[in-house]
Amino acid sequence: MKAILVHQPGGPEALRLEEVPVPQPGPGQALVKIAASGVNFIDIYFRTGLYKADPPFGIGMEAAGTVEAIGAGVGEVSVGDRVAYAMNRGSYAEYGVIPAWQLVRLPDGVDVNQGAAAMLQGMTAHYLSHSTYPLREGDWCLIHAAAGGAGSLLVQMAKMRGATVIGTTSTAEKAARAKAAGCDHVILYTEKDFDTEVKEITNGRGVDVVYDSVGASTWERSLNSLKKRGLMVSYGNASGPAPAVAPLELNNRGSLFLTRPTLAHHCQDRGELLWRASDVLDWIAAGKLKIHIEKIYPLIEAAQAQTDLASRKTSGKLLLIP
Ligand code: NDP
Repeated sequence: MKAILVHQPGGPEALRLEEVPVPQPGPGQALVKIAASGVNFIDIYFRTGLYKADPPFGIGMEAAGTVEAIGAGVGEVSVGDRVAYAMNRGSYAEYGVIPAWQLVRLPDGVDVNQGAAAMLQGMTAHYLSHSTYPLREGDWCLIHAAAGGAGSLLVQMAKMRGATVIGTTSTAEKAARAKAAGCDHVILYTEKDFDTEVKEITNGRGVDVVYDSVGASTWERSLNSLKKRGLMVSYGNASGPAPAVAPLELNNRGSLFLTRPTLAHHCQDRGELLWRASDVLDWIAAGKLKIHIEKIYPLIEAAQAQTDLASRKTSGKLLLIP
């Protein structure tokens, strides 16, 4: 089968399309014929070496397709099921062997492209809005990169939960998308000091929670945007990792809380996975959650897809088709 492998972390050229054997499922595993694979920022972190893996390693953390074979003891899925998964590396490929407990059946009304697009960013938006800080009516939140893949889904879920949402984007075109996703206010953070704007919008109070996926370049102003005892959720590094912080700094800025969560710790067992995935997929099937698939690339153009994502050109989801 064809698969993208990295032998040496580096630039986009580190992604190499190679011929490798089709893997076989062991006990508790299923072989999935991949129909579409999602492109995520985390794939770039692995490719560049910010996140570590032993080379040669596969790239890509989510996909959707059809179960082609199952190993001993698998009861979660059957051969022929349409399924999707996230947080299992190596999805830039024609096949994947996945622990069966991580596979979710796609409901009627959700096609494989939507399934591949929804899992990682959708469940991330779900845990951020339902678990890390369970938003409620009356809360104010700040969501960076609000037109991005994860950001635009988080905006929609924050609105479902009744929060008032301030989003940030780099361009007017992305601001329009963020508004369409449900943002009550959008700040062009490449043109304005967003912390000053947030304080103005909230009458000096600040927001209850900042969901920050941008990292280095937004860190300071994100902390400035919080109310006293507000929660800083640093969940990504699109501009580089956030700096180290001394506990006393949190005191000085208003007894702030800080967390750095990741999806894998929020889908720890099948029950938690099915809760999040079913919510996301059922909302898509019902038309309550909109997934914008911006571009679909053939697998051989994985490097171009990652380059486009890293260059801030995109809003919404990018997919690879093997
Ligand atoms: P996006 O589609 O959101 O793309 C990233 C966006 O970040 C860009 O479009 C851009 O939006 C913004 N950005 C700001 N500064 C930069 C920069 N210097 N370089 C590139 N982009 C920049 O990607 P994803 O939805 O895949 O991921 C978003 C973030 O969420 C990533 O940081 C990712 O690591 C994180 N994430 C974390 C998870 C977790 O569990 N912790 C799980 C899933 C995602 P704009 O042009 O509007 O500024």
